[in-house]
Amino acid sequence: MPQASIVVVGAGLAGLRACEGLRSRGFEGRITLVGDEPHLPYDRPPLSKQFLAGEWELDRVMLSSPEKIAGLGLDLRIGPEQRAVSLDLGVRRLVLASGEAVGFDGLVLATGSAARKLPDLNRLPGVHVLRTLDDAMALREVLVRPGARLALAGAGFIGLEVAATARRLGAEVTVVEPLEVPLGRVLGPVLGRACEAMHREEGVSFHLGTVVESVRAGSDGAAQPSGTGELACRLSNGQVVEVDALLVGIGAAPSVGFLEGSGLQAGPDGIVCDRFLTAGPGVVVAGDVARWPAPGWRVPAGDEETAPTVRVEHRTNAAEQGEVAAASLLAYLGLPTAPTAPAAATDLAPQAHELPYVWSDQYGVKIQALGLPRNDDEVVIVEGNPSERRFLALYGRGGRLQAAVGFSRPRHVMMVRPLLERGATLSEARALFS
Ligand SMILES: Cc1cc2nc3c(=O)[nH]c(=O)nc-3n(C[C@H](O)[C@H](O)[C@H](O)COP(=O)(O)OP(=O)(O)OC[C@H]3O[C@@H](n4cnc5c(N)ncnc54)[C@H](O)[C@@H]3O)c2cc1C
Repeated sequence: MPQASIVVVGAGLAGLRACEGLRSRGFEGRITLVGDEPHLPYDRPPLSKQFLAGEWELDRVMLSSPEKIAGLGLDLRIGPEQRAVSLDLGVRRLVLASGEAVGFDGLVLATGSAARKLPDLNRLPGVHVLRTLDDAMALREVLVRPGARLALAGAGFIGLEVAATARRLGAEVTVVEPLEVPLGRVLGPVLGRACEAMHREEGVSFHLGTVVESVRAGSDGAAQPSGTGELACRLSNGQVVEVDALLVGIGAAPSVGFLEGSGLQAGPDGIVCDRFLTAGPGVVVAGDVARWPAPGWRVPAGDEETAPTVRVEHRTNAAEQGEVAAASLLAYLGLPTAPTAPAAATDLAPQAHELPYVWSDQYGVKIQALGLPRNDDEVVIVEGNPSERRFLALYGRGGRLQAAVGFSRPRHVMMVRPLLERGATLSEARALFS
Protein backbone atom coordinates (compact mmCIF):
# COMPACT_ATOMS: atom_id res chain seq x y z
CA MET A 1 0.00 0.00 0.00
CA PRO A 2 1.39 3.47 -0.86
CA GLN A 3 2.73 5.58 1.98
CA ALA A 4 0.51 8.24 3.44
CA SER A 5 0.34 9.70 6.89
CA ILE A 6 -2.65 9.75 9.17
CA VAL A 7 -3.07 11.59 12.45
CA VAL A 8 -5.61 10.35 14.97
CA VAL A 9 -6.49 12.95 17.62
CA GLY A 10 -7.83 11.46 20.84
CA ALA A 11 -6.29 8.35 22.40
CA GLY A 12 -9.56 6.97 23.75
CA LEU A 13 -11.75 4.12 22.53
CA ALA A 14 -12.76 5.61 19.17
CA GLY A 15 -9.19 6.75 18.45
CA LEU A 16 -7.70 3.35 19.29
CA ARG A 17 -10.34 1.49 17.26
CA ALA A 18 -9.60 3.79 14.32
CA CYS A 19 -5.86 2.93 14.55
CA GLU A 20 -6.66 -0.79 14.76
CA GLY A 21 -9.12 -0.45 11.86
CA LEU A 22 -6.53 1.26 9.69
CA ARG A 23 -3.94 -1.44 10.33
CA SER A 24 -6.39 -4.34 9.97
CA ARG A 25 -7.33 -2.95 6.56
CA GLY A 26 -3.69 -3.06 5.52
CA PHE A 27 -2.65 0.56 5.99
CA GLU A 28 1.11 0.58 6.43
CA GLY A 29 1.82 4.31 6.44
CA ARG A 30 2.55 6.47 9.43
CA ILE A 31 -0.18 6.74 12.08
CA THR A 32 0.36 9.36 14.76
CA LEU A 33 -1.93 8.91 17.75
CA VAL A 34 -2.22 12.12 19.75
CA GLY A 35 -3.76 12.12 23.24
CA ASP A 36 -3.64 14.66 26.04
CA GLU A 37 -3.98 12.22 28.95
CA PRO A 38 -0.89 10.66 30.53
CA HIS A 39 -2.20 7.11 29.98
CA LEU A 40 -2.41 4.54 27.23
CA PRO A 41 -6.00 4.18 25.94
CA TYR A 42 -8.34 2.95 28.67
CA ASP A 43 -12.01 2.18 29.00
CA ARG A 44 -14.32 4.59 30.78
CA PRO A 45 -17.37 2.47 31.76
CA PRO A 46 -15.50 0.67 34.60
CA LEU A 47 -14.55 4.05 36.10
CA SER A 48 -18.00 4.35 37.68
CA LYS A 49 -18.36 0.62 38.31
CA GLN A 50 -15.71 -2.09 38.91
CA PHE A 51 -12.70 0.24 39.04
CA LEU A 52 -14.39 2.70 41.39
CA ALA A 53 -15.53 -0.20 43.57
CA GLY A 54 -11.93 -1.40 43.83
CA GLU A 55 -12.83 -4.73 42.16
CA TRP A 56 -10.69 -4.11 39.10
CA GLU A 57 -7.17 -2.80 39.06
CA LEU A 58 -5.62 -0.66 36.38
CA ASP A 59 -4.65 -3.46 33.99
CA ARG A 60 -8.31 -4.48 33.48
CA VAL A 61 -9.29 -0.96 32.60
CA MET A 62 -6.78 -0.60 29.77
CA LEU A 63 -8.23 -1.10 26.28
CA SER A 64 -5.18 -2.95 25.01
CA SER A 65 -1.89 -4.25 26.33
CA PRO A 66 1.29 -2.19 25.83
CA GLU A 67 2.56 -5.05 23.60
CA LYS A 68 -0.49 -4.95 21.33
CA ILE A 69 -0.30 -1.17 21.07
CA ALA A 70 3.40 -1.44 20.22
CA GLY A 71 2.39 -3.99 17.56
CA LEU A 72 0.30 -1.35 15.81
CA GLY A 73 3.48 0.58 15.05
CA LEU A 74 2.08 3.93 16.07
CA ASP A 75 3.87 7.19 16.51
CA LEU A 76 2.39 7.58 19.97
CA ARG A 77 2.17 11.09 21.42
CA ILE A 78 0.46 11.10 24.78
CA GLY A 79 0.51 13.56 27.67
CA PRO A 80 -0.68 17.11 28.33
CA GLU A 81 1.99 18.65 26.11
CA GLN A 82 0.61 16.63 23.18
CA ARG A 83 -2.79 18.26 23.37
CA ALA A 84 -3.98 19.42 19.95
CA VAL A 85 -4.43 23.18 20.13
CA SER A 86 -5.20 24.16 16.54
CA LEU A 87 -5.83 22.74 13.11
CA ASP A 88 -4.94 24.26 9.75
CA LEU A 89 -6.64 22.27 7.02
CA GLY A 90 -5.16 24.49 4.29
CA VAL A 91 -1.64 23.21 4.96
CA ARG A 92 -2.91 20.03 6.63
CA ARG A 93 -1.14 20.52 9.94
CA LEU A 94 -2.18 19.90 13.52
CA VAL A 95 -0.47 22.03 16.15
CA LEU A 96 0.21 20.56 19.60
CA ALA A 97 0.53 22.31 22.96
CA SER A 98 4.29 21.69 22.79
CA GLY A 99 4.38 23.95 19.72
CA GLU A 100 5.13 21.08 17.36
CA ALA A 101 3.16 20.92 14.11
CA VAL A 102 2.30 17.47 12.76
CA GLY A 103 1.44 17.15 9.06
CA PHE A 104 -1.04 14.60 7.69
CA ASP A 105 -2.80 13.33 4.59
CA GLY A 106 -5.74 12.00 6.56
CA LEU A 107 -7.11 13.03 9.94
CA VAL A 108 -9.31 11.22 12.45
CA LEU A 109 -10.95 13.40 15.10
CA ALA A 110 -11.84 11.31 18.15
CA THR A 111 -11.50 13.76 21.03
CA GLY A 112 -14.61 12.60 22.88
CA SER A 113 -16.13 14.84 25.49
CA ALA A 114 -15.12 16.41 28.77
CA ALA A 115 -17.10 16.54 32.01
CA ARG A 116 -19.16 19.68 32.44
CA LYS A 117 -18.28 21.55 35.61
CA LEU A 118 -20.03 24.03 37.86
CA PRO A 119 -17.80 27.07 37.33
CA ASP A 120 -17.86 28.41 40.88
CA LEU A 121 -17.12 25.06 42.52
CA ASN A 122 -14.30 23.69 40.44
CA ARG A 123 -11.42 24.59 42.60
CA LEU A 124 -12.92 23.61 45.95
CA PRO A 125 -11.21 20.57 47.47
CA GLY A 126 -13.67 17.71 47.69
CA VAL A 127 -15.60 18.70 44.55
CA HIS A 128 -15.16 16.03 41.87
CA VAL A 129 -16.13 15.20 38.31
CA LEU A 130 -15.83 11.74 36.76
CA ARG A 131 -14.54 11.45 33.23
CA THR A 132 -10.93 10.34 33.43
CA LEU A 133 -8.93 7.64 35.12
CA ASP A 134 -7.35 10.30 37.33
CA ASP A 135 -10.82 11.53 38.32
CA ALA A 136 -11.82 7.97 39.24
CA MET A 137 -8.70 7.42 41.33
CA ALA A 138 -9.36 10.63 43.27
CA LEU A 139 -13.00 9.69 43.94
CA ARG A 140 -12.13 6.12 44.87
CA GLU A 141 -9.77 7.43 47.52
CA VAL A 142 -12.68 9.21 49.21
CA LEU A 143 -15.22 6.40 48.88
CA VAL A 144 -13.08 3.69 50.43
CA ARG A 145 -12.79 5.62 53.69
CA PRO A 146 -15.05 4.19 56.36
CA GLY A 147 -18.21 6.26 56.84
CA ALA A 148 -17.67 8.29 53.67
CA ARG A 149 -20.51 10.63 52.72
CA LEU A 150 -21.08 11.54 49.09
CA ALA A 151 -23.44 14.02 47.45
CA LEU A 152 -24.19 13.83 43.75
CA ALA A 153 -25.26 16.86 41.76
CA GLY A 154 -27.12 15.29 38.83
CA ALA A 155 -28.87 11.93 38.51
CA GLY A 156 -27.83 10.76 35.06
CA PHE A 157 -26.46 7.31 34.23
CA ILE A 158 -22.96 8.02 35.52
CA GLY A 159 -24.18 9.69 38.71
CA LEU A 160 -26.51 6.81 39.52
CA GLU A 161 -23.82 4.23 38.82
CA VAL A 162 -21.56 6.04 41.24
CA ALA A 163 -24.43 6.11 43.75
CA ALA A 164 -24.79 2.32 43.43
CA THR A 165 -21.04 1.73 43.73
CA ALA A 166 -20.73 4.08 46.69
CA ARG A 167 -23.59 2.33 48.51
CA ARG A 168 -21.89 -1.01 47.96
CA LEU A 169 -18.78 0.45 49.53
CA GLY A 170 -20.88 1.51 52.51
CA ALA A 171 -20.93 5.25 51.82
CA GLU A 172 -23.86 7.48 52.65
CA VAL A 173 -25.24 8.86 49.37
CA THR A 174 -27.44 11.88 48.69
CA VAL A 175 -28.57 12.67 45.15
CA VAL A 176 -29.56 16.22 44.22
CA GLU A 177 -31.34 16.49 40.86
CA PRO A 178 -33.03 19.51 39.26
CA LEU A 179 -35.66 17.37 37.51
CA GLU A 180 -38.51 15.74 39.38
CA VAL A 181 -37.31 12.30 38.36
CA PRO A 182 -33.82 10.77 38.02
CA LEU A 183 -32.79 9.93 34.45
CA GLY A 184 -35.91 11.84 33.41
CA ARG A 185 -34.30 13.46 30.41
CA VAL A 186 -32.95 10.15 29.07
CA LEU A 187 -35.54 7.52 29.96
CA GLY A 188 -38.60 9.60 30.79
CA PRO A 189 -40.74 9.51 33.93
CA VAL A 190 -41.86 5.86 33.97
CA LEU A 191 -38.42 4.28 33.95
CA GLY A 192 -36.91 7.17 35.86
CA ARG A 193 -39.26 6.40 38.75
CA ALA A 194 -38.35 2.71 38.56
CA CYS A 195 -34.71 3.69 38.91
CA GLU A 196 -35.45 6.03 41.78
CA ALA A 197 -37.36 3.30 43.63
CA MET A 198 -34.44 0.91 43.22
CA HIS A 199 -31.96 3.44 44.63
CA ARG A 200 -34.25 4.39 47.53
CA GLU A 201 -34.57 0.71 48.43
CA GLU A 202 -30.78 0.58 48.53
CA GLY A 203 -30.62 3.51 50.94
CA VAL A 204 -29.93 6.48 48.65
CA SER A 205 -31.54 9.80 49.65
CA PHE A 206 -32.96 12.06 46.95
CA HIS A 207 -33.62 15.79 46.73
CA LEU A 208 -35.55 16.07 43.46
CA GLY A 209 -36.53 19.28 41.74
CA THR A 210 -33.59 20.74 43.65
CA VAL A 211 -30.16 22.15 42.83
CA VAL A 212 -26.97 22.65 44.79
CA GLU A 213 -26.90 26.41 45.24
CA SER A 214 -23.60 26.81 47.00
CA VAL A 215 -20.86 24.79 48.64
CA ARG A 216 -18.65 25.79 51.54
CA ALA A 217 -15.54 23.98 52.64
CA GLY A 218 -15.90 22.60 56.17
CA SER A 219 -19.15 22.08 58.07
CA ASP A 220 -18.36 25.23 60.01
CA GLY A 221 -17.13 27.05 56.91
CA ALA A 222 -13.47 26.43 57.70
CA ALA A 223 -11.36 24.87 54.98
CA GLN A 224 -10.12 21.36 55.77
CA PRO A 225 -6.42 20.65 55.44
CA SER A 226 -6.71 17.28 53.67
CA GLY A 227 -8.15 18.43 50.37
CA THR A 228 -11.08 16.01 50.71
CA GLY A 229 -12.51 17.31 53.95
CA GLU A 230 -16.05 18.24 54.78
CA LEU A 231 -18.24 20.22 52.46
CA ALA A 232 -21.49 21.92 53.36
CA CYS A 233 -23.79 21.90 50.32
CA ARG A 234 -26.67 24.37 50.50
CA LEU A 235 -29.60 23.20 48.39
CA SER A 236 -32.34 25.23 46.72
CA ASN A 237 -34.92 23.56 49.04
CA GLY A 238 -33.23 25.24 52.00
CA GLN A 239 -31.51 22.14 53.34
CA VAL A 240 -27.78 21.83 54.00
CA VAL A 241 -26.11 18.49 53.29
CA GLU A 242 -22.73 17.85 54.88
CA VAL A 243 -20.53 15.45 52.95
CA ASP A 244 -16.91 14.46 52.36
CA ALA A 245 -17.20 14.81 48.60
CA LEU A 246 -19.53 16.26 46.00
CA LEU A 247 -19.58 14.67 42.56
CA VAL A 248 -20.80 17.00 39.86
CA GLY A 249 -22.43 14.76 37.27
CA ILE A 250 -24.10 17.18 34.91
CA GLY A 251 -23.07 15.67 31.60
CA ALA A 252 -20.23 16.12 29.18
CA ALA A 253 -19.42 18.54 26.37
CA PRO A 254 -17.68 17.58 23.10
CA SER A 255 -13.97 18.49 23.07
CA VAL A 256 -13.77 20.71 20.01
CA GLY A 257 -12.02 23.89 21.20
CA PHE A 258 -8.95 23.28 19.06
CA LEU A 259 -11.07 23.26 15.88
CA GLU A 260 -12.02 26.90 16.12
CA GLY A 261 -11.19 28.62 12.85
CA SER A 262 -10.47 25.28 11.13
CA GLY A 263 -13.44 25.60 8.78
CA LEU A 264 -15.03 22.42 10.10
CA GLN A 265 -18.58 22.65 11.42
CA ALA A 266 -17.71 22.09 15.08
CA GLY A 267 -19.26 23.48 18.25
CA PRO A 268 -21.02 22.58 21.48
CA ASP A 269 -23.14 20.05 19.56
CA GLY A 270 -20.13 18.16 18.23
CA ILE A 271 -18.50 17.93 14.82
CA VAL A 272 -20.94 17.61 11.95
CA CYS A 273 -20.21 14.79 9.51
CA ASP A 274 -21.99 12.63 6.96
CA ARG A 275 -23.16 9.06 7.57
CA PHE A 276 -19.71 7.77 6.62
CA LEU A 277 -18.36 10.11 9.31
CA THR A 278 -16.61 12.44 6.88
CA ALA A 279 -16.41 16.01 8.18
CA GLY A 280 -14.20 17.49 5.47
CA PRO A 281 -11.75 16.42 2.76
CA GLY A 282 -9.70 13.63 4.32
CA VAL A 283 -11.14 14.37 7.77
CA VAL A 284 -13.28 11.82 9.59
CA VAL A 285 -14.86 11.89 13.01
CA ALA A 286 -15.65 9.11 15.51
CA GLY A 287 -17.16 8.63 18.95
CA ASP A 288 -18.73 11.04 21.41
CA VAL A 289 -17.66 14.02 19.37
CA ALA A 290 -19.39 13.02 16.09
CA ARG A 291 -22.73 14.47 14.99
CA TRP A 292 -24.12 12.47 12.10
CA PRO A 293 -27.36 12.32 10.11
CA ALA A 294 -30.11 10.66 12.10
CA PRO A 295 -31.22 7.34 10.67
CA GLY A 296 -34.66 7.38 9.08
CA TRP A 297 -36.27 5.18 11.72
CA ARG A 298 -35.45 7.67 14.40
CA VAL A 299 -37.18 10.67 12.92
CA PRO A 300 -40.97 10.53 12.88
CA ALA A 301 -42.63 11.95 9.77
CA GLY A 302 -42.85 15.73 10.06
CA ASP A 303 -39.97 15.93 12.53
CA GLU A 304 -37.17 15.91 9.95
CA GLU A 305 -36.41 19.61 10.37
CA THR A 306 -35.97 19.46 14.13
CA ALA A 307 -34.07 16.20 14.46
CA PRO A 308 -31.86 15.86 11.40
CA THR A 309 -28.68 14.82 13.21
CA VAL A 310 -27.68 12.83 16.26
CA ARG A 311 -24.71 12.58 18.63
CA VAL A 312 -24.32 9.59 20.91
CA GLU A 313 -22.15 9.44 24.03
CA HIS A 314 -21.96 5.69 24.45
CA ARG A 315 -19.28 3.09 24.29
CA THR A 316 -20.60 0.81 21.55
CA ASN A 317 -21.07 3.77 19.25
CA ALA A 318 -17.50 4.97 19.83
CA ALA A 319 -16.05 1.52 19.06
CA GLU A 320 -18.13 1.06 15.92
CA GLN A 321 -17.48 4.54 14.63
CA GLY A 322 -13.72 4.10 15.04
CA GLU A 323 -14.00 1.25 12.52
CA VAL A 324 -16.25 3.17 10.12
CA ALA A 325 -13.97 6.22 10.29
CA ALA A 326 -10.92 4.10 9.41
CA ALA A 327 -12.68 2.56 6.43
CA SER A 328 -14.01 5.95 5.24
CA LEU A 329 -10.60 7.57 5.47
CA LEU A 330 -8.88 4.84 3.47
CA ALA A 331 -11.58 5.16 0.80
CA TYR A 332 -10.95 8.92 0.66
CA LEU A 333 -7.20 8.46 0.40
CA GLY A 334 -7.83 6.04 -2.46
CA LEU A 335 -5.87 3.33 -0.70
CA PRO A 336 -6.83 -0.22 -1.59
CA THR A 337 -7.51 -2.36 1.45
CA ALA A 338 -5.87 -5.73 1.95
CA PRO A 339 -7.75 -8.67 0.38
CA THR A 340 -8.57 -10.07 3.82
CA ALA A 341 -9.51 -6.68 5.26
CA PRO A 342 -12.69 -6.15 7.25
CA ALA A 343 -15.65 -4.44 5.64
CA ALA A 344 -15.48 -1.12 3.83
CA ALA A 345 -17.21 1.98 5.16
CA THR A 346 -20.10 1.56 2.71
CA ASP A 347 -20.80 -1.88 4.17
CA LEU A 348 -20.36 -0.77 7.74
CA ALA A 349 -22.09 2.58 7.88
CA PRO A 350 -25.73 1.67 7.32
CA GLN A 351 -25.94 -0.97 9.99
CA ALA A 352 -23.03 -0.30 12.29
CA HIS A 353 -23.49 3.04 13.95
CA GLU A 354 -27.11 3.82 13.38
CA LEU A 355 -28.80 1.93 16.19
CA PRO A 356 -27.41 3.31 19.42
CA TYR A 357 -26.97 0.97 22.34
CA VAL A 358 -26.14 1.80 25.93
CA TRP A 359 -26.01 -0.14 29.13
CA SER A 360 -25.63 0.75 32.76
CA ASP A 361 -24.93 -1.49 35.78
CA GLN A 362 -26.57 -0.59 39.07
CA TYR A 363 -26.91 -2.99 42.06
CA GLY A 364 -26.39 -5.99 39.80
CA VAL A 365 -29.19 -4.85 37.45
CA LYS A 366 -28.13 -4.41 33.83
CA ILE A 367 -30.09 -1.56 32.30
CA GLN A 368 -29.92 -1.70 28.50
CA ALA A 369 -31.30 0.82 26.03
CA LEU A 370 -31.43 0.04 22.33
CA GLY A 371 -32.45 2.87 20.02
CA LEU A 372 -32.96 6.39 21.23
CA PRO A 373 -35.63 6.76 23.90
CA ARG A 374 -36.97 10.27 24.41
CA ASN A 375 -38.59 11.59 27.57
CA ASP A 376 -41.86 12.43 25.77
CA ASP A 377 -42.21 9.01 24.09
CA GLU A 378 -45.13 6.73 24.80
CA VAL A 379 -43.84 3.98 27.12
CA VAL A 380 -45.37 0.54 27.52
CA ILE A 381 -44.08 -2.18 29.81
CA VAL A 382 -44.54 -5.39 27.86
CA GLU A 383 -42.75 -7.91 30.05
CA GLY A 384 -41.88 -8.27 33.73
CA ASN A 385 -42.39 -5.87 36.59
CA PRO A 386 -40.45 -2.73 37.63
CA SER A 387 -40.89 -3.55 41.32
CA GLU A 388 -38.90 -6.76 40.71
CA ARG A 389 -36.19 -4.88 38.78
CA ARG A 390 -36.77 -7.17 35.78
CA PHE A 391 -38.83 -5.80 32.90
CA LEU A 392 -38.86 -4.64 29.31
CA ALA A 393 -40.28 -1.28 28.20
CA LEU A 394 -40.93 -0.20 24.62
CA TYR A 395 -40.79 3.43 23.55
CA GLY A 396 -42.90 4.74 20.66
CA ARG A 397 -43.38 8.09 18.96
CA GLY A 398 -45.99 8.88 16.34
CA GLY A 399 -46.92 5.18 16.39
CA ARG A 400 -43.40 4.11 15.47
CA LEU A 401 -41.14 2.05 17.71
CA GLN A 402 -38.17 4.15 18.88
CA ALA A 403 -36.39 2.17 21.57
CA ALA A 404 -36.43 -0.77 23.92
CA VAL A 405 -35.17 -0.48 27.49
CA GLY A 406 -34.71 -3.51 29.70
CA PHE A 407 -33.84 -4.00 33.36
CA SER A 408 -32.06 -7.38 33.54
CA ARG A 409 -33.75 -8.46 30.30
CA PRO A 410 -30.85 -8.81 27.80
CA ARG A 411 -32.52 -11.42 25.60
CA HIS A 412 -35.78 -9.48 25.32
CA VAL A 413 -33.97 -6.24 24.45
CA MET A 414 -32.12 -7.94 21.61
CA MET A 415 -35.36 -9.49 20.31
CA VAL A 416 -36.49 -5.94 19.52
CA ARG A 417 -33.41 -5.10 17.45
CA PRO A 418 -34.71 -6.29 14.06
CA LEU A 419 -37.94 -4.39 14.57
CA LEU A 420 -36.09 -1.17 15.34
CA GLU A 421 -33.87 -1.68 12.34
CA ARG A 422 -36.76 -2.00 9.95
CA GLY A 423 -38.75 0.87 11.46
CA ALA A 424 -41.57 -1.27 12.87
CA THR A 425 -44.61 0.20 14.60
CA LEU A 426 -45.07 0.14 18.35
CA SER A 427 -48.05 -2.21 17.92
CA GLU A 428 -45.95 -4.73 15.98
CA ALA A 429 -43.39 -4.73 18.77
CA ARG A 430 -46.05 -5.11 21.47
CA ALA A 431 -47.45 -8.08 19.61
CA LEU A 432 -44.09 -9.81 19.92
CA PHE A 433 -44.57 -10.00 23.70
CA SER A 434 -48.31 -10.59 23.96
C1 LIG B 1 -17.51 7.17 34.15
C2 LIG B 1 -18.08 6.80 32.82
C3 LIG B 1 -18.88 5.66 32.70
C4 LIG B 1 -19.43 5.31 31.49
N1 LIG B 1 -20.22 4.21 31.41
C5 LIG B 1 -20.76 3.86 30.22
C6 LIG B 1 -21.58 2.70 30.12
O1 LIG B 1 -21.84 2.00 31.09
N2 LIG B 1 -22.09 2.39 28.91
C7 LIG B 1 -21.84 3.15 27.79
O2 LIG B 1 -22.33 2.82 26.72
N3 LIG B 1 -21.05 4.24 27.86
C8 LIG B 1 -20.52 4.62 29.05
N4 LIG B 1 -19.72 5.74 29.12
C9 LIG B 1 -19.49 6.54 27.90
C10 LIG B 1 -18.31 5.98 27.09
O3 LIG B 1 -17.24 5.71 27.92
C11 LIG B 1 -17.94 7.00 26.02
O4 LIG B 1 -19.03 7.10 25.13
C12 LIG B 1 -16.68 6.64 25.29
O5 LIG B 1 -15.57 6.67 26.15
C13 LIG B 1 -16.43 7.60 24.15
O6 LIG B 1 -15.21 7.29 23.55
P1 LIG B 1 -14.42 8.38 22.68
O7 LIG B 1 -13.20 7.68 22.21
O8 LIG B 1 -15.34 8.98 21.69
O9 LIG B 1 -14.05 9.55 23.68
P2 LIG B 1 -13.16 9.54 24.99
O10 LIG B 1 -13.26 8.24 25.68
O11 LIG B 1 -13.57 10.77 25.74
O12 LIG B 1 -11.67 9.73 24.46
C14 LIG B 1 -11.24 10.93 23.87
C15 LIG B 1 -9.81 11.20 24.26
O13 LIG B 1 -9.36 12.36 23.53
C16 LIG B 1 -8.63 13.19 24.42
N5 LIG B 1 -8.63 14.58 23.91
C17 LIG B 1 -9.63 15.49 24.01
N6 LIG B 1 -9.24 16.65 23.45
C18 LIG B 1 -7.98 16.46 22.99
C19 LIG B 1 -7.06 17.30 22.32
N7 LIG B 1 -7.34 18.57 21.99
N8 LIG B 1 -5.84 16.78 22.01
C20 LIG B 1 -5.53 15.50 22.33
N9 LIG B 1 -6.37 14.67 22.97
C21 LIG B 1 -7.58 15.15 23.29
C22 LIG B 1 -9.38 13.04 25.73
O14 LIG B 1 -8.60 13.47 26.83
C23 LIG B 1 -9.62 11.53 25.73
O15 LIG B 1 -8.52 10.85 26.23
C24 LIG B 1 -19.16 6.11 30.34
C25 LIG B 1 -18.36 7.26 30.44
C26 LIG B 1 -17.83 7.60 31.67
C27 LIG B 1 -16.97 8.84 31.80
